[in-house]
Amino acid sequence: MIELTDVHAGYGRIEVLRGVSLSVPRGTVTALLGPNGAGKSTLVKVLSGQLRATSGHVHLGGVHVNDASPDDLARAGLCTIPEGRAIFPNLTVAENLRLMRGDPEIVYDRFPKLGQRRRQLAGSMSGGEQQMLAFSRALVTDPAVLVIDELSMGLAPIIVAELYDVVRELAEDGVTMLIVEQFAETATAVADQVVVMADADDLAAEDLTTVYFGGTR
Ligand code: ATP
Repeated sequence: MIELTDVHAGYGRIEVLRGVSLSVPRGTVTALLGPNGAGKSTLVKVLSGQLRATSGHVHLGGVHVNDASPDDLARAGLCTIPEGRAIFPNLTVAENLRLMRGDPEIVYDRFPKLGQRRRQLAGSMSGGEQQMLAFSRALVTDPAVLVIDELSMGLAPIIVAELYDVVRELAEDGVTMLIVEQFAETATAVADQVVVMADADDLAAEDLTTVYFGGTR
């Protein structure tokens, strides 16, 4: 469903991704780990069409991302949750959800807490609730492929567990997910496949299934 073959990408003359190949089968969860600066967010940008690969192939549900318009990617069912929670703090929970085309009731069923807070300004909620809302905005679009940058960043373990319960349910419904994760323990518990992006020197990953090389060195 997500297929990258020998992808190179970067910023100007700085090459960040140096030959990344990765395959995420339909309805599975891949966690992407790696130290700061390894290129995880860069990979997310390439997948979502924000940054063009300089070489290599990026396929998403049969769509060639490098040649696709944002509309093509939306039609292929791609939804990205960028780092830093893309929500509108000055709008209510309900308004944030209504801006995405879809049925907010799906969300209130999955996260009753958001239902109770539908009239609260998003910016006045806790960090965990805001991440739940960011995640929910993606859910109402009924995505086929969900790419999430830093799902559990800064959140209490109980909230992380709640979000990952929904991740597993989505996978069972056939949604394909790539999730940038900070914590190896969480990633290995939840993901079908764990991918580490690192310079060769940093590797200590005998218990991880797949390793790819990125970095700016
Ligand atoms: P983190 O875990 O800290 O978010 P990351 O693995 O997501 O790190 P990236 O954000 O992809 O890493 O950054 C990889 C490298 O690319 C870094 O050295 C960063 O400084 C550089 N970089 C990122 N964005 C840009 C940009 N817009 N212009 C130039 N360099 C950039």
